[in-house]
Amino acid sequence: MKIGTPLEVEAGENRVAMTPDSARQLQKLGYDCVIQSGAGAKAGFSDADYAAADVEVVEGAEALWSTADIIAKVRIPQEEELDRLTSDKTLITFFNPGGNEAGLEKAKASGANVIAMEMVPRISRAQKMDALSSMANIAGYRAVIEAGNNFGRFFTGQVTAAGKVPPAKVLVVGAGVAGLAAIGTSTSLGAITYAFDVRPEVAEQVESMGAEFVYLDFEEEQQDGAATGGYASVQSEEFRNAQLAKFRELAPEVDIVITTALIPNRPAPKLWTEDMIAAMKPGSVIVDLAAERGGNAEGTVADEKVVTENGVTIIGYTDFPSRMATQSSTLYATNIRHMMADLTPEKDGQINHNMEDDVIRGATVTHQGEITFPPPPPKVA
Ligand code: NAD
Repeated sequence: MKIGTPLEVEAGENRVAMTPDSARQLQKLGYDCVIQSGAGAKAGFSDADYAAADVEVVEGAEALWSTADIIAKVRIPQEEELDRLTSDKTLITFFNPGGNEAGLEKAKASGANVIAMEMVPRISRAQKMDALSSMANIAGYRAVIEAGNNFGRFFTGQVTAAGKVPPAKVLVVGAGVAGLAAIGTSTSLGAITYAFDVRPEVAEQVESMGAEFVYLDFEEEQQDGAATGGYASVQSEEFRNAQLAKFRELAPEVDIVITTALIPNRPAPKLWTEDMIAAMKPGSVIVDLAAERGGNAEGTVADEKVVTENGVTIIGYTDFPSRMATQSSTLYATNIRHMMADLTPEKDGQINHNMEDDVIRGATVTHQGEITFPPPPPKVA
């Protein structure tokens, strides 16, 4: 069978779902590889690079979609792409199945099998296919770099002949995948780094990275609801108040705030309020990674950088992985080829869409003319 990757049609998207390296790995699974001319250019991979890896290069989307049996791409497919699906094809991509009813209906009508990369269950076995995590890792790193680029001082403290410079103070809110990457980047740049999460079990990890975990003045356990599948649950009003009180205390102290707090399928919790922003020093920077879901900070505008009256910069870019397209394409393409390895147990270049496999079942959103989203709850081990 042939696996193919088109040029992303979404404006501003620089990533590509297949790299010359991942193509070599896909070939070892028995597949022929094909790419649309120019698809890798913005991520630093030329047509010649692909040709050198024995990937067939075709001109135009029509040629790509008609020749490939399996299409691997990055962004939620647009209508013109879904129109190219047929019952003999498999599409592997981010799909946003929870908010894309029209897309699901179209995919169903085509009869194609669609695997949504954001639906890969967060279990150990599937980590190598977990594209949400690989992209969040990049976003966390890039958030700190972006903050540094908009901050007028060093991260690390210095004593030089020209004077003494205090270290920057960074607060990371939410220590999931993106948060931990931000913490690691911030500490390695020499900033004093604080981190908060509603899941107290991450405190040890935070501290092992050289950051200080922020504890709340709260009677009960730090977290008041059971976490599910590695994700946080909704908090009580009392807990939220204790959290906001702690943040109010920190606001005048910190120079940079990176917010990453997320609860699945809900709008982002508002955690950095207007009065906290007003209390921050001029020149401070907030990078709000939750901007796409409404933002953790009040005043965040998705895809924009705004400067408040008191001189605080709030960055709400939602495309950090695309801003590091070579790195993110490399990791995403690796996620895809691991997914393909699961789908090709015999390494014979034939897809085996095994709906008994938890990972494949969890990620499949349409199968043989049926919508298979949401998947049944994972079996408890
Ligand atoms: P994750 O689920 O691994 O981490 C989220 C963390 O937030 C969890 O540890 C959770 O416990 C914590 N949390 C939830 N509610 C909280 C609260 N009230 N206070 C403190 N912590 C709280 O998610 P992730 O994969 O790290 O993604 C984090 C965010 O980054 C998401 O919003 C995601 O959409 C976003 N993201 C943005 C970009 C971008 O380019 N802007 C790219 C990738 C991911």
